[in-house]
Amino acid sequence: MNQIKPKKVLIAILVALILFVLYFFSNSNSVDLQQSNFFLSSENNQKIEDLIDNMTIEEKVGQTCQITLDAILMKDSAGILLEPHRIDQKKLEEAIFEYKIGSVLNVSNHTFSLEKWHTIINSIQSTSLLSDHQIPVIYGVDAIHGATYIKNSTLFPQEIGLAATWDTSHARIMGEITAYETRASGVPWNFSPVLDLGRKPIWSRFFETLGEDVYLAKVMGRSIVDGYQGDGKIDKYHVAACLKHYVGYSFPSSGRDRTPALIPRRTMEEYHLPTFKEAINAGALTVMINSGEVNGIPGHANKHLITEVLKENWGFAGFTVSDWEDLINLHKVAQTDSTLKDAIATAINAGVDMSMVPNNPQYKSYCKLFVELINEGRVKESRLNDAVRRILRVKSKIGLLSDIQVLTLDDYPNFGSEEHRNAAYNAAAESITLLKNNDNILPLANDKSILLIGPTANSLNCLNGAWTHTWQGLDESYNNNYPTIKDAIEQRFDEVRYFEGSKMIMKDGDELDISSNDLKIAVDNARSLDVAIVCLGELPSTERPGDIYTLDLPKEQQLIVNELSAVGIPIVLVLVEGRPKIIRDIEPLSDAILQAYLPGDQGAIALVDILCGNVNPSGKLPYTYPRYNGVIMHYDHKQSELINANTWKNDFYNPQWNFGFGLSYTSFEYSNLQISRDDLYPNKELKISIDVTNTGRVKGKEVVQLYIRDHYASVSPCLRKLKRFTKIELEPMESRNVVFNISDKDLKFYGIDNKWLTEEGQFSVIIDKESKDFNFKNEIN
Ligand code: BGC
Repeated sequence: MNQIKPKKVLIAILVALILFVLYFFSNSNSVDLQQSNFFLSSENNQKIEDLIDNMTIEEKVGQTCQITLDAILMKDSAGILLEPHRIDQKKLEEAIFEYKIGSVLNVSNHTFSLEKWHTIINSIQSTSLLSDHQIPVIYGVDAIHGATYIKNSTLFPQEIGLAATWDTSHARIMGEITAYETRASGVPWNFSPVLDLGRKPIWSRFFETLGEDVYLAKVMGRSIVDGYQGDGKIDKYHVAACLKHYVGYSFPSSGRDRTPALIPRRTMEEYHLPTFKEAINAGALTVMINSGEVNGIPGHANKHLITEVLKENWGFAGFTVSDWEDLINLHKVAQTDSTLKDAIATAINAGVDMSMVPNNPQYKSYCKLFVELINEGRVKESRLNDAVRRILRVKSKIGLLSDIQVLTLDDYPNFGSEEHRNAAYNAAAESITLLKNNDNILPLANDKSILLIGPTANSLNCLNGAWTHTWQGLDESYNNNYPTIKDAIEQRFDEVRYFEGSKMIMKDGDELDISSNDLKIAVDNARSLDVAIVCLGELPSTERPGDIYTLDLPKEQQLIVNELSAVGIPIVLVLVEGRPKIIRDIEPLSDAILQAYLPGDQGAIALVDILCGNVNPSGKLPYTYPRYNGVIMHYDHKQSELINANTWKNDFYNPQWNFGFGLSYTSFEYSNLQISRDDLYPNKELKISIDVTNTGRVKGKEVVQLYIRDHYASVSPCLRKLKRFTKIELEPMESRNVVFNISDKDLKFYGIDNKWLTEEGQFSVIIDKESKDFNFKNEIN
């Protein structure tokens, strides 16, 4: 008998141990990449693995296929949807039994009652439960400022307004209530929030963003995700978030939707990726891919961004979904793939997990071609398994793989409640931003006689914007019973005379502004009235139909202000707009200006409360309001952008209003800025404090904003960057000592060597008009 040597035994044990560890990690490959709070029990993980093991290629491909509701609705012989919309059971069964589809989205330009939603979801899910593996479909909608496609839901300000509150609690509450009301319909997945930065106001989806600043968008975005997902513990009151549109979508060079963007690596790292990364760290379950292209690479073909950055570097454990028809578009629009089949291979191999195909019969070709790609080995089955595993994990996480709820109206007693309405009102009231108030003309006493005029004065649709009840938000037939500005003003003031002044209509897909005949009569009336409230702005629109040609406010709207100002009536200008329209010429003619953004169903009541002084305005601009169409600068500009070659002064940054600007009916004074040390070192904190005093006569809220300036850096630095903020409320003459902490992490930038770093040198902390310098040093001397 051979003698067994102890050394050999030891080596054998070691090898076995290494092999076991390797085996363990390779098997749990997708599990150990999980975002920390994306934990599924080992039992649920095992259930998913068992499912995958037992599914055919066709079943797995089907899981990755998302169709639109239209694809399974009854149509007439001309292909027009039958009213009322109802499911065509044959088409549904074909989609589920034959093509084994995993997801359904949207609703076709209709807003349904809760009961109607229940009928639709119940029939889809009861059919899916008859399939071999009984995996329910995951239904997704765009509930982007409230449950926008459910009758009588609660509608909040659009994201741009939410950002103007500068208060993360509003973002969180919007998320929670939207999740609750969306879930009430049986839909567990929301295509929101938009985390693209709003740095191009001409872009049609600017209003869907949280503004121009990375930090503001990052913290507000995270709060929305926390609200949607209930901090990751998704129960029947929460939904899966979908971050969109990863990444660089908001930055098309032409300003037109879905056109090419050029984004250098540093800009990508410093501006476009951080909002997404933050939300991934918060446990966001799904991500929608950018429909456009960045540096010539279509979003859906960008393996580096989807697989390497999002999934591998950040450990994203959920699934990615394509945007509308975007696999088809790789072939048809981007023309990076000469056939549809190649396009599917490109996108799936780049890391797209689910395809919003979404029409019928296109989805059938998608499924067939994808199966062929697997059989031909052009897409590895392991890639397909990875996509399906990710989709099933999300389904499991949101409860779809355990108990499918039979929907009843009793489970969601707070749907559309007074409590929810108040929350939407509070967000609207805190978003509206006072930009000018000469001689404290506002607030107005209730006995003032009012001339109310302008194309946004009597439209609930203008207050809500696009994605409300229908895609473009223009249809009035589903509106909830809330007042327009006209209704709310008439309820509050004794004498109100209303005129249109100008009209906005849609002509050939664009907004056309037309002067109204009543402008002349309005001007005559102006002589006998106390004040004119002029409501201007734009019609709702989004995506490609929302592309516009200029930021200039139409001359027909400006004419109203010109004519009224000629008779000397004081003018309060109210802007109801999703982006800053140029008002350089009429601004000096206005005595007060309020930016209402797109404040939602409660917007008119909130606005009138501000006009009357029941609410003291506290919104601050989440973007730089441009003065000129051709000069779009941001608050975080560089020294080189300041130099004006006409004056040779540093006065080229001359926006209409600065980012972070907003007045109040009271005044605040800042004093006594203190920093805890003159030198900051790695891993140490700098404590910054400042006294803020309400020096006026009414209670008010103020957003204390902390900026940092890096004086010299090897990559030319911005003159300031927002690093912290907080919103505080002070009684008249009350003071508060506000404290912030920052560390070297807040000083980092993306360096010449394409790595994040902090360089030694001088920095300033800036709060309001106060500033203090400190040095960053790598080592204590
Ligand atoms: C938009 C997405 C939206 C999707 C589904 C697309 O056209 O770009 O933001 O979520 O449609 O409605």
